Amino acid sequence: RVPLAQARVVLAGLGVTGRSLQRVLEPRVASLVTVDDRAHDADHGALDADAAAALLADADLLVASPGFPPHHPVVAAALAAGVPVWSEVELAWRLRANRLGTDEPAAWLGITGSNGKTTTVEMLAAILRAAGLRTAAVGNVGRSLVEAALDPMLDVIAVELSSFQLHFTHTMSLQAGAVLNVSADHLDWHGSLAAYTRDKGRIYENVQVACVYNVADATTEDLVREADVVDGARAVGFAVGTPGPGDLGLVDDVLVDRAFHAADDDPDRRKSAAELGTLADLKQLGDHNGVVPTHIVADALAAAALARAHGVPASAVRDGLRSFGPGEHRIQRVAESAGVTYVNDSKATNAHSAAASLAGFAHGTVVWIAGGLAKGATFDDLVSSRADRMRAAVVIGAEPGPLADTLARHAPKVPVVVIDPGDTETVMRRAVEAARDLAQAGDTVLLAPAGASQDQFASYAHRGEEFVRVVRDLTTTR
Ligand code: ADP
Repeated sequence: RVPLAQARVVLAGLGVTGRSLQRVLEPRVASLVTVDDRAHDADHGALDADAAAALLADADLLVASPGFPPHHPVVAAALAAGVPVWSEVELAWRLRANRLGTDEPAAWLGITGSNGKTTTVEMLAAILRAAGLRTAAVGNVGRSLVEAALDPMLDVIAVELSSFQLHFTHTMSLQAGAVLNVSADHLDWHGSLAAYTRDKGRIYENVQVACVYNVADATTEDLVREADVVDGARAVGFAVGTPGPGDLGLVDDVLVDRAFHAADDDPDRRKSAAELGTLADLKQLGDHNGVVPTHIVADALAAAALARAHGVPASAVRDGLRSFGPGEHRIQRVAESAGVTYVNDSKATNAHSAAASLAGFAHGTVVWIAGGLAKGATFDDLVSSRADRMRAAVVIGAEPGPLADTLARHAPKVPVVVIDPGDTETVMRRAVEAARDLAQAGDTVLLAPAGASQDQFASYAHRGEEFVRVVRDLTTTR
């Protein structure tokens, strides 16, 4: 309602993102008040509902970091008072729209999903770079979105969008957007699976060219159907298998595009599909036999679909995928010792990604190191569907009980070692030692926790680094 330049703004959250929002907002708004749970505690006592209501009474806008769910007192107070709440994404989109100058602002290609966002965003950026475009991967990785939105040097950006950010995003209009998959995660923030799913679906609102969805995940297709898009925008599916007309998929070992093939400079427009490369172009992401996990192929197809919606030629898709290397803490092979391979997938922070990780090891059995914060989810499906892959399980986490119980219930034959949470410092060492003792030649020791890390580690990266350090230590000293 009030133009940004005249708005009295409250900014909630002063983490890394919050600080960058603060820098961008300060010179652009009438007044800025910042609130952070920790700082507020120290200076003013707890931020209860009354304090929050007082804080929001004179505000025109609340910009909320992802750490502030709808039920947080500050957000609840804003909603109750009718004060608009914007995510970082909404703010970035508005700044993009308000930008001075006559040059065309960068197009946005967006990605959300329960798993694979970062992988796909980075694949997409690699493809866009291979096409000679000035681009950046933003969101969870790399630069902040607000800074990228204000950068006049960019042609197109690859944006990772979390369900938290989408919840408070209202006017964004992506050139193309993808939901990779939807599975239970972050239910504590959103309140329910239905609410979480709905927030993911907001990515498709106002899409201009293509809504990219996963043919194997009906929820993503439903979300496209329910979305309000710009006239002429279409639904494009991706499938790790033969694609329908208008979709992208895999035929034999070739990634094919049956959605955008007519747009190529290709003189032979009568062809029914464009070829975007082969599985061999992704072999650097595969296991030691070069076998590429299905979910990685899915991510590559989703990235390709978004790039093609932007008009990138087929050859650049192949070049980009070829140039793409595996990320840290994502199915990262760490060492091999006594015939046992050690793999770090600390980034598998929910049941769905851990299931993909366990399925990725088609050969041999796995000694699975898992546990951590469940974020309101359960592990029944994961354990019952993957029990046949497990040699044994080692359970970490501050509260190992629920996962250990689920293993006992659905995988009664799988030996389980529970690591006493008592001494956090040595948790990973004790877990890896236990796993090493349980593993037999040909097995994989896999850290794919299916939970968040903060109960025992600073972050998933810290948890992964600890694993790598201990594995290197144990495998080189004997
Ligand atoms: P996000 O950014 O959504 O957390 P990442 O790309 O960092 O996703 O990957 C997180 C975890 O999910 C990793 O363990 C990765 O191996 C796994 N993963 C990647 N893509 C998929 C997918 N399409 N389906 C399931 N799991 C996936």
